[in-house]
Amino acid sequence: MSFSFRVTHTDGRARRGVMATAHGEVQTPAFMPVGTQGAVKGVLHRDLEEMGADILLGNTYHLYLRPGDDLIARRGGLHAFIGWPRPILTDSGGYQVFSLAARRTVAEDGVKFQSHLDGSAHLLTPEKVVDIQAQLGSDIAMVLDECLAHPSGDELVRPSMERTLRWARRSRDRFLTLSEKRGRTPFSETEKRGTTPFSGGGVIVTNSGQAQFGIVQGGTSPELREESAHGTVGIGFEAYAIGGLSVGEPTDVMYKIVAATTPFLPEDRPRYLMGTGTPQDLVESVARGIDLFDCVLPTRNARNGQLFTSEGPINIKNARFAEDDRPPDPTCSCYTCRTCSRAYLRHLFRAGEINASTLNTLHNLHFYLDTLRQIRDAIAFRRFESFRTAFHQSLSRQLHDS
Ligand SMILES: [Zn+2]
Repeated sequence: MSFSFRVTHTDGRARRGVMATAHGEVQTPAFMPVGTQGAVKGVLHRDLEEMGADILLGNTYHLYLRPGDDLIARRGGLHAFIGWPRPILTDSGGYQVFSLAARRTVAEDGVKFQSHLDGSAHLLTPEKVVDIQAQLGSDIAMVLDECLAHPSGDELVRPSMERTLRWARRSRDRFLTLSEKRGRTPFSETEKRGTTPFSGGGVIVTNSGQAQFGIVQGGTSPELREESAHGTVGIGFEAYAIGGLSVGEPTDVMYKIVAATTPFLPEDRPRYLMGTGTPQDLVESVARGIDLFDCVLPTRNARNGQLFTSEGPINIKNARFAEDDRPPDPTCSCYTCRTCSRAYLRHLFRAGEINASTLNTLHNLHFYLDTLRQIRDAIAFRRFESFRTAFHQSLSRQLHDS
């Protein structure tokens, strides 16, 4: 099966749709839990399937350094290696490399960096990033883009946005070159395992149905965003992402840039807002035409004891929960809320019990996925605006903790 996207309902600028990939369908708007090392920290794939996660995000930077994309390709690709049969999106690795700051240098060819694991030197070019993701065999591969820190002035943002466009062209060319070779030179060993990979220039392509998304950059300038969107769409990708937001800019600026960018992206392609965000951010971005999200917030914050609830976040470490027999969120149907009290979860966290991370992560991911389910239902019944108002009112309500 190849990549496709169909908008099934609209309500204002909010869209509900179905994104088909080589490993199945994703109901949109969708949230992608982050599986950095080929696993979502604290939970099993079984848990993710049970809570209805349609798609996972894998981090190319981490998988490239360890265990390596060659090793994963020899196992038949990332789906086979980690035992996850559903869709996977891999990022380009660029965000992690640019975060290395002192350990990397950027040039036209690509980014040189030192591994955070052993200090070894690496060069990540747009072409190399396409090759790595071809070997990982994700259903959606992202192009390498330059990620600037916020705030950056227009004198930095423009050349960076233009370089990202040149890199996007090179990424697409490499992707198409690999696609042309598809099926002509099958890789005999993996062919025996019943998959359909091919070898292109030493690259083992483990997923012949892989799609490639372009990324719009341009900082907080609506004009540069528009220019970047036109240039990226002009190259032609299966779909488009908005990158370089959620990097420390004020929330209203992020919303403004999302609203100013989505009109320049094709109606018939998914739109992915990278690295965002809070539950409120998801609702507000859907209202501005976004279909796909990923963020470490629900999983990372769970491990730090923060639980998202329908009445706003709570910190389970707080002393006021010591004898609180209520579930974390009385309206939640997840395993944690069905079986655990706040008092018990606080105890587990304070005792450093490993199950604290698991139980908190189960709840937070369920909360995010359920929020997206409610968003999809609201759009289908054309009551997204009333859902949006009620959602914000509920989240801003103060909890009665005493
Ligand atoms: Zn729950």
